[in-house]
Amino acid sequence: MKVKVGINGYGTIGKRVAYAVMKQDDMELVGVTKTKPDFEAYRAKELGIDVYAASEEFLPRFEKAGFEVAGTLNDLLEKVDIIVDATPGGVGAKNKQLYEKAGVKAIFQGGEKADVAEVSFVAQANYESAIGKNYVRVVSCNTTGLVRTLNALREYIDYVYAVMIRRAADPNDTKRGPINAIKPTVEVPSHHGPDVQTVIPVNIETMAFVVPTTLMHVHSIMIELKKPITEKDVIDIFENTTRVLLFEKEKGFESTAQIIEFARDLHREWNNLYEIAVWKESISVKGNRLFYIQAVHQESDVIPENIDAIRAMLELADKEESIRKTNKSLGILK
Ligand code: NAD
Repeated sequence: MKVKVGINGYGTIGKRVAYAVMKQDDMELVGVTKTKPDFEAYRAKELGIDVYAASEEFLPRFEKAGFEVAGTLNDLLEKVDIIVDATPGGVGAKNKQLYEKAGVKAIFQGGEKADVAEVSFVAQANYESAIGKNYVRVVSCNTTGLVRTLNALREYIDYVYAVMIRRAADPNDTKRGPINAIKPTVEVPSHHGPDVQTVIPVNIETMAFVVPTTLMHVHSIMIELKKPITEKDVIDIFENTTRVLLFEKEKGFESTAQIIEFARDLHREWNNLYEIAVWKESISVKGNRLFYIQAVHQESDVIPENIDAIRAMLELADKEESIRKTNKSLGILK
């Protein structure tokens, strides 16, 4: 028996989660919601996905365009075991009462506050804490990236200081900027440090800047060490950490542009890079301080976490099995 999954909000994250669900042998994608019959709605139909109106109020838009929907969100909720809410930040919290009323488990995304769910989730760090839960939040792209590498180094960490250089917008986004400025988040810490602490207990302070790029985020990370570690140890640890890959400047990975080109060369759908990219040469130990630089593909690193969260919440597999299945189905390199 496959578990029945619905997606509410078929945008950047929602369509990638839908694709990933369709790749699983223990899940069935029942349908997705749209607020309007735009090109993404037509493409979903072409792919054989049932499209539902996100609420009754949106039905006239579909009727006017002659776009036949399979029902509304309430109809979708009647048919699913779990709903992945991938609506814009803040909308998920408002939707929660609909999910509670329908008695359907729900996964929220990182644009929601932590208190929307019982657990904030990154599979390799705290899969077990989501087992059997009704409401789980997959943390943001930046937090997922920080947690993946910091969790691997946890026993060595005394204090983390990290600077996030954030992409201003996703490639399909024409509403956000800046297009010619560097915009600091003047609040210190930025929200990323406290968000990491919703998943793993580490001492961390973060600062953030938004820059005019759409490809990836970059993190500059400095760790004060609790016990000694060598650069070789860190390389070994990252080589043995799932969903983390080492990239060498020596081999032409000079910037986020070549890392995304690598994902294109893999013929990954939407040039997704589910893995966190750490520049190997940046791994440096100076006394009791460790430094490294990593890049995060904001549109896709959280997709495997959504799939693992479904398995944990519906108790379909243990951590190792779920991560293995998700990695294999999405072609994640390790
Ligand atoms: P998006 O704007 O690309 O997609 C959101 C979709 O939801 C759109 O298709 C929109 O039309 C639809 N929508 C709007 N209101 C709705 C409603 N009331 N009901 C149903 N659908 C509605 O947004 P996104 O980038 O996919 O972000 C979704 C969530 O994922 C947010 O919480 C965001 O913070 C988080 N997230 C985004 C990224 C990223 O880089 N894009 C990365 C990680 C996490």
